[in-house]
Amino acid sequence: MSHSWYFIFVSIWLLAADNVVAQQSNRQSANWADDEAHFNSSLALILVPRVVGSRGHTQVRNYLVNSLNGLGFQTEVDEFKQRVPIFGELTFANVIGYINPQAQNFMALACHYDSKYFPNDPGFLGATDSAVPCAILLNTAKTLNSYLLQQFRNRNDLGLMLIFFDGEEAFREWTNSDSVYGSRHLANKFARTRSPTSTSDQANLGPRHIDRIEVLVLLDLIGARNPKFSSFYENTHGLHSSLVEIEQTLRTAGRLEGNNKMFLNRPAGGLVDDDHRPFLEENVPILHLIATPFPDSWHTPRDNAANLHWPSIRNFNRVFRNFVYEYLKRHTAPVDLRFHRK
Ligand SMILES: [Zn+2]
Repeated sequence: MSHSWYFIFVSIWLLAADNVVAQQSNRQSANWADDEAHFNSSLALILVPRVVGSRGHTQVRNYLVNSLNGLGFQTEVDEFKQRVPIFGELTFANVIGYINPQAQNFMALACHYDSKYFPNDPGFLGATDSAVPCAILLNTAKTLNSYLLQQFRNRNDLGLMLIFFDGEEAFREWTNSDSVYGSRHLANKFARTRSPTSTSDQANLGPRHIDRIEVLVLLDLIGARNPKFSSFYENTHGLHSSLVEIEQTLRTAGRLEGNNKMFLNRPAGGLVDDDHRPFLEENVPILHLIATPFPDSWHTPRDNAANLHWPSIRNFNRVFRNFVYEYLKRHTAPVDLRFHRK
């Protein structure tokens, strides 16, 4: 794969990065306290074999819906049937939660909740792939809940979308058609949905739903020791830089454990195919937070709770919730990071 690097950023976010840091250090550390009990109980309920069509899969899907409802999200289940290798027809269900569903634009946070099918390993858990990312998204919503349900609630410029994709994993072998079943379905649906706007009373005159997503932040393969996150897409490099800054600020303030620098201010050496593909093809800006190199336990029976690294998970939670909060709080005008043809 080829990748070209640009260091000209159009993001107002990057320009504001210094202010973000200044405000970070001024804020009381008690504002967004950890809620480890919530994280642990969430993870415990997600960390079961959850191959599409299995009982564990239905349990996790229901848990996600109930959790989102309990956190004040308006929840949708995007259910569909599709034929796949080995299993034949399966029922998939993406789970989407909204705060401010009527808003003009959205910050979307995403991960996948299905676990991979291994014929010789029916107990495969996919702890980093992607039980931990799912628990991180719920924990982010939980720890920011007072903000999301008070100051942020009822804003018209911006909403928050949590997307739990189904069917990310290949059933036989990863190809364009045997992978990312849920995200392909949802991107297609969002591209065909037009939203009513205040200036039009006909729903079909509004923008496409997919074009209301300012950025899709996709979490994957998180939870192993000492992860490294590089910047994959030049149009979201400013956002990635904000993660670098927030991590530095929290470390200086003594609020992170250990010395591993997670967010590297450098472009990745290549791209990783994942749930963002169908959204990228629709020109949705992508912030891909996937550990590279992949965890050693990736797609092995060792991707379980025993091989998770809790300090790294706690650190990620702390940086990520501050990043989400800063994006929502600082948002004063539509942020357009889309690629524009010259
Ligand atoms: Zn996987």
